[in-house]
Amino acid sequence: MTGSALPETIFARSADPAWILTEEGYDPLRESSRETRFAVSNGFLGVRGERAFTRGRRWTAPARTYVAGLFDRTGEAGGVPVLLPATDWLQVQVMAAGERLVEEPADVPSHRMDLDMRRGMVLTDCIHGAGAVRVRVRTLRLVSLSDRPLGLQLIRLDVLAGQAMVDLEAALEEVNPGLALQSSSPDLMTWRTRRSGIALAMAAAATLKIDSQAGTAMRTGPLRSSWSWTTRPGQVVEFERLVSVARSPDDADAAATARAALKRAQGRRAKGVVADHEAAWSERWARSDIEIDGDAAAQRALRFAAYHLNSAANPTDDRVSIGARALTGSDYGGHVFWDTEVFLLPFYCHTWPEAARTLLMYRHRGLEAARAKARSLGWTGALYAWESAGDGEEATPPYAVAPDRQVLGILTGVREQHVSADVAYGVWRYWTSTGDDDFLCEAGAEILFETARFWAARAVPEPDGRRHIRGVIGPDEYHEKIDDNAFTNVMGRWNLYRALETADLMRERWPQTWKALSGRLGLDDPELRRWREAADGIATGYDPQTGLFEQFAGFFGLEPVDLSGYAGRSVPMDVVLGRERTQRTQVIKQADVVALLALLPEVFPGDAGKRNFLYYEPRCGHGSSLSPPLHGLVAARLGETDKALDYFRRTAAIDLSDATAAVGGGVHIGALGGLWMTVIFGFAGVAFGEEDISLSPRLPPGWTRLAFTLQWRRRRMRCEILQTLGRLTVSLEDGPAMTVRINAMRHPLEPGRPIDAAY
Ligand code: BGC
Ligand code: BGC
Repeated sequence: MTGSALPETIFARSADPAWILTEEGYDPLRESSRETRFAVSNGFLGVRGERAFTRGRRWTAPARTYVAGLFDRTGEAGGVPVLLPATDWLQVQVMAAGERLVEEPADVPSHRMDLDMRRGMVLTDCIHGAGAVRVRVRTLRLVSLSDRPLGLQLIRLDVLAGQAMVDLEAALEEVNPGLALQSSSPDLMTWRTRRSGIALAMAAAATLKIDSQAGTAMRTGPLRSSWSWTTRPGQVVEFERLVSVARSPDDADAAATARAALKRAQGRRAKGVVADHEAAWSERWARSDIEIDGDAAAQRALRFAAYHLNSAANPTDDRVSIGARALTGSDYGGHVFWDTEVFLLPFYCHTWPEAARTLLMYRHRGLEAARAKARSLGWTGALYAWESAGDGEEATPPYAVAPDRQVLGILTGVREQHVSADVAYGVWRYWTSTGDDDFLCEAGAEILFETARFWAARAVPEPDGRRHIRGVIGPDEYHEKIDDNAFTNVMGRWNLYRALETADLMRERWPQTWKALSGRLGLDDPELRRWREAADGIATGYDPQTGLFEQFAGFFGLEPVDLSGYAGRSVPMDVVLGRERTQRTQVIKQADVVALLALLPEVFPGDAGKRNFLYYEPRCGHGSSLSPPLHGLVAARLGETDKALDYFRRTAAIDLSDATAAVGGGVHIGALGGLWMTVIFGFAGVAFGEEDISLSPRLPPGWTRLAFTLQWRRRRMRCEILQTLGRLTVSLEDGPAMTVRINAMRHPLEPGRPIDAAY
């Protein structure tokens, strides 16, 4: 009998090229950026877009699988915990007539790799040859979005020519220096991280079919098998490997979880696993896809952003959050920064509230560590880690070795404190956009209170009658140990006011909960009064005469540098000028006052927003990927659509342009979240009021249509902006009636009665 068990269509990429990222041929110089971009992930497992067959003679390969939360201290990065690469489960070698079917990229006559974003998988299609044998090889790789412990690898060989003995061996990576092997059996292995003692288990089942007949496997080791057969033209060979992964504090638990997941998958068979996965992706896309007509590159960039954002979160695990490179690379050791609350959370709040909630529950779990950090530095309340790993303890490396081998102290871990207000901002944003009162009562309020407590202690009254926050680092990390950073102070003040508002609200609406929580935290009226005094007294650096916020005390007096003179540079400005000199200039690393303007536009009266943007934008060197999207968002809000589009493109290029050197270490997930923000809050002009949503579209020229779905307070609405007609429609897909403002005009929105209005 000939033929195959799996439909060939399983290997077919989506027809519409707007859903596909393709790479033709092999370019070794582009390999690591391809691996980043083509990563598949489900928030628990992340697999970089490595080539389908294992390279070289040994079973070693660069790290490609990450498991969320698998942190350990390795002695590197100044001894802080980093995300370990997990055991690679995808290794395959094929020998034909004694020759390796895939030896070097140059030997491959044709090779195409596709990231199919709609289907959430990587597909490859190539012709391989060894001796007289020629084979078409197609592969599929995914980690399941519907059952997160699962990974699936499919390989289909269509023999085009030649008769020869072939061996296919499938293995698990043998040596992983970060993991100590605990047990191995034919179908399951367990390890422990060496210092943190986290248990990792992998179970796997592999089969090979030759013309639909099961081949006989030879066990060559634990989770390692090989098959041998003779090829003939027309033969179809299918290899299928299911793997399940579990992480747990406990070995037995990890092993049982991995076994159970594998069993589930075997019950569904590969076809079922693929179908469930695709159904889960299709649900995600229904909630989060943005359609753009008139700009194919922008369309693909946004799909790419939403693809990675949907891949990064796991709403079922509040022990982990999303690191600065998600699960797609090792830069920043998997650490979680302010990026999550400020740049990622908006996407989740409005497309996947369950994921947003889980990210904040991770911060709630981290409260104890944040309290300890504040205490250790002599303050009360909660000071969140600038970089946090598994348990929320500070994980910023204390030093780094510069390219010239100089050891540089890193001060962010102690001084970049705005993160505490950013977490509070995330809490408030989630609560106001979902109306999830249970979350506020169970976790959110406690975060708001403890961070407020920190700011009340941190903002110290001085003889000038103001409160000052001295010796911090703001978002612009080029200037260290500065006083009264406008971003930090205004966000801290905002944090205090929101905490006070929450206290009032709880007292009124949930008196029992308030009583219990305030009792537990030892929060009383005198302390609340002190919070108000602190908030009212914080210096903000705002000058009503000029309408400018001074980024920090003394900034206006620093040396101005004309950045246009450095337009062609290929390195960041602090490298061009040197660290010391940069500190004496007005060159800033990234949006700082502009970040404040993006987050809290309401604190900029009259035309102060515009004035600050005009002042700070030319001083910004964009030394962080987080900077262009915030500038894009603010420029769009200010009606500077061309400039905003320029920033949109710069942001999109960070991970998608081959000119970007830093992409090998993982996708810049914060910038991808920022891209979404630029479109929704900038170009579509979405803003949330106390009781309604408003839209003030300002689409870039050429974008003839923009359509998206948003969730807000248990409603789901679909918005479509038709620039050529100057019209906008909003329909309520789910949830109760509400009001939508379009350029300040109020329109009722009811189920089945869409708004169709000029804008
Ligand atoms: C970042 C800091 C970070 C430090 C150590 C720097 O590149 O800008 O935010 O704390 O690396 O990871
Ligand atoms: C930026 C920080 C950011 C970190 C991680 C740094 O370069 O300055 O703002 O949190 O990267 O993305």
